[in-house]
Amino acid sequence: MARVSFPYDAPVSQTLFDRAALVTPGGVNSPVRAFRAVGGTPRFMVSGQGPYLTDADGREYVDLVCSWGPMILGHAHPEVIAAVQEAVGRGTSFGTPGEGEVALAEEIVARIGPVEQVRLVSSGTEATMSAIRLARGFTGRAKVIKFAGCYHGHVDALLAAAGSGVATFGLPDTPGVTGAQAGETVVLPYNDLEAVRAAFAAHPGEIACVITEASPGNMGVVPPAPGFNQGLKDLCAENGALYISDEVMTGFRTSKAGWFGVDGVEPDLMTFGKVMGGGFPAAAFGGREDVMAHLAPAGPVYQAGTLSGNPVATAAGLAQLRLLDDAAYAKVNAVSGEIQSLVTAALTKEGVAHRLQTASNMFSVFFTDQDVRNYEDAKTQEAFRFTAFFHSMLSDGVYLPPSAFESWFVSTAHDERAVQRIADALPAAARAAAEATA
Ligand code: PLP
Repeated sequence: MARVSFPYDAPVSQTLFDRAALVTPGGVNSPVRAFRAVGGTPRFMVSGQGPYLTDADGREYVDLVCSWGPMILGHAHPEVIAAVQEAVGRGTSFGTPGEGEVALAEEIVARIGPVEQVRLVSSGTEATMSAIRLARGFTGRAKVIKFAGCYHGHVDALLAAAGSGVATFGLPDTPGVTGAQAGETVVLPYNDLEAVRAAFAAHPGEIACVITEASPGNMGVVPPAPGFNQGLKDLCAENGALYISDEVMTGFRTSKAGWFGVDGVEPDLMTFGKVMGGGFPAAAFGGREDVMAHLAPAGPVYQAGTLSGNPVATAAGLAQLRLLDDAAYAKVNAVSGEIQSLVTAALTKEGVAHRLQTASNMFSVFFTDQDVRNYEDAKTQEAFRFTAFFHSMLSDGVYLPPSAFESWFVSTAHDERAVQRIADALPAAARAAAEATA
C-alpha cells in the first residue's frame, strides 16, 4: 500500500462503516465500495443532487462515479423523480405484465438496430448470465470465450480474469466457482484477434459465444482497436458461434445507441443495465429475434424473475432514456472532454507519466507512459500514484472511483461550477501523484 495521509476525518462515515462491518462482509454490499484499493474510510452518502453527492459528515463532493455509470442526468433529476413518484403511487410490484415494461422494451428496440426483441431483468449480471445460457441453448455448445480484464458481472463462468473489483483486488480466481464452470471459459487477451482465431481452431464446434465489453471500462478504459469488434463478429459467424456485446456500461451512455451507435458492428445478442434503469435495478438482454425466440415461454431456454420489468424501475429507466436526446449526449461529451483536458494538463504540468484513454464520454487515467491495449498493459501502471491522486481529490471534494481500474463517469448536470471545483482540486492531486512512492 502506498504511503498516503488522509487529510481529514470522516467520523460519521467511520462509525457507519464500523457498524456495517459487524453485519455485512467487509462492511459493503459491493466490494469496490470498500476503498480497500486506496485505503481510508469509504464515504457513506446520504444524498445526491445534480453533479454532487453529500456524505454522512455533511461534506459535498463533485461526483465522477455517477453510481458507476447510471446517473447520466445527474442525481435526483426532477423528471426522473416525478416519474418514479407517479409510478410508486400506483403500487410497487404486481408480478404481472404492465405497460411500462412494454414501453421500455420498445424504446430499447427503437434505439438499437440489432435488438429485435429484448427481455428485462434486474441486474447486468443477470443479463449476461441469461445471454450466455441462451447462446448455449441456441447453439447446443458449451464453451464461452471472454477477454481478460473484461467484467460481465459476477456470473460464475465469467469471473475468470475479470475486470472491475476482481482486477482492483488482483484476485486470480474466485473460490466457489467449480472447475467445470471455469473449464468451459476460454480467457484470451483483449484486442488480439489472432488469439480468438486460434481458440476457434483449437475448439472446433465447441464455442457457443464470444462475450466482450463493447468497449471495455472495467480494466480502466481500453477501447477496441479499429476492426477488433468487426473481427469478432466475423469469426463468430464463420464458426457458428454467437457474438455477444456487453453494453451494460456503454449502453445508452456512449451514444443514444451505446457503443453500437459508435462502431456500428451488429452483435447477435447484447446486454444492457446501468443507464437504462435510471438509478433503479433494471437491465436487459436482447438481439436477433430467431435467437430470442428460444427463450421461455416462447422457447425451451428458461429464464425468469419476480421483479423483472418492475413498474418503478421501468418508469425511472424510461424517463431517463426519453430525456437522453442528441443534445444531452452532446452536453455529456463536451463536459467529459473539458474534464479530460484539465486532468491531462495538471498531470503533464507535474511531469506525471500517464495515459488518458477515452471511449466517447467514458475515460480513465493510467499512470504509465505506454498505451494500454489490454489487461496486461493496464496492470503495469503505477497504481500507487492513483492512490495519492485519489485521496487528494477526495479531500478537496471530488469523488473519483476508488480504483485505478475503473472508468470515470460524468453527467449532463456537470456544469461550470462543478468543473471549476475539479479544476481547483487537480493541481494538488497531480503534485501528490508526482510525489507518491510505491
Ligand atoms: N457488464 C458490465 C460491462 C459491467 O460493467 C457490469 C457492472 O459493472 C456488469 C456487467 C454487471 O452489472 P451489475 O453490477 O448490474 O450486475
